[in-house]
Amino acid sequence: MEYDLVIIGGGPIGLNCAIEAKKAGLSYVVLEKGVLVNSLYNFPTNMTFFSTSNLLEIGGVPFIAHNDKPTRREALEYFRRVQESWDLNIKLYTEVKSMSEYDGVYQVLTTKGTFTASHVIVATGFYDTPRLLHIPGEELKKVKHFYDDPHPYVDQKVLVIGAANSACDVALETYYKGAEVTMAIREGEIYPKVKYWIRPNIENRIKEGSIKAYFNTTVKEIRPHEVVLQTPDGDITIENDFVLAMTGYMPNYQLFESLGIPVTEDEFKIPVHDEQTLETPLKGVYVAGVINSGLQTSKLFIENTRVHSEMIIQSILAGKGEVAVH
Ligand code: FAD
Repeated sequence: MEYDLVIIGGGPIGLNCAIEAKKAGLSYVVLEKGVLVNSLYNFPTNMTFFSTSNLLEIGGVPFIAHNDKPTRREALEYFRRVQESWDLNIKLYTEVKSMSEYDGVYQVLTTKGTFTASHVIVATGFYDTPRLLHIPGEELKKVKHFYDDPHPYVDQKVLVIGAANSACDVALETYYKGAEVTMAIREGEIYPKVKYWIRPNIENRIKEGSIKAYFNTTVKEIRPHEVVLQTPDGDITIENDFVLAMTGYMPNYQLFESLGIPVTEDEFKIPVHDEQTLETPLKGVYVAGVINSGLQTSKLFIENTRVHSEMIIQSILAGKGEVAVH
């Protein structure tokens, strides 16, 4: 079967694109390499979103949460309900590997066969690829770039690298659950945009000495039972059991290459696209969601990319000589 649209990625924005496609009467399929909203599923178990639930709503499905900011568990429940309400055509555990084009039709090659469509939306997010430190010892098993639960770190000497939201959440949670926490922070302060209810908490724990923080400090080497920190006062070596490198994530550039999508040559490496239609230089291929800001991962969120789906579907309909119906 040849679809009007293949959507790569079953995250909030991929799902929102599917809803718009369904509303417009387009035939479509969502290809998701993991579970429904796979990135959210892999977020820390006890995480709370910084957005209020109404700003995460898609497809007119109300998002009821216990507090103004929903938890990961509530978000998973919500997106299950979105899927149930809209009965979207999603193929889970179906990873896209590459894409080719012949005569204006795209062949999307996956781990479960090939899907054919005249249009493709890439909405693959950035949570699969951590930003690496590129330092000796980073390959050790005790170094984690993803964090889920505090339990493994009870009674352990933990080094948290970073000072943005994830790092502060992880430092606080592991500290409260019984880890001995040290932070290595490249800048001179906690990231100013850390969630307003988290920032004073982490700053006070640091001030009172419950969490030891080294500012203007980078990690030079990770060894099996210690780490070497480069501080303004010189190198120091501290005992260590685990390193939680909360240094951020980035889009999967290898995938863009396999799909044939070029990126800008500046430091931001943004997938090239038209700002109005979100179409890439490949005719009929669009980008959506947080990947659209490349390495500037704190610029786009669910709340300000929900509009992408409408922009793209309108462009597809315009190309077919049809008008969007709402
Ligand atoms: P994703 O949700 O990442 O979805 C992309 C999907 O594509 C994934 O399910 C992935 O498995 C799939 N995929 C990737 N490669 C392939 C492939 N080759 N084949 C098939 N499928 C593939 N934003 C907010 O607005 N509010 C918040 O409160 C908020 N909190 C955040 C907290 C954390 C810890 C993080 C990391 C991010 C947060 N964000 C938040 C930022 C961002 O909005 C989310 O990352 C959101 O998930 C992005 O939605 P998306 O649909 O663009 O991408």
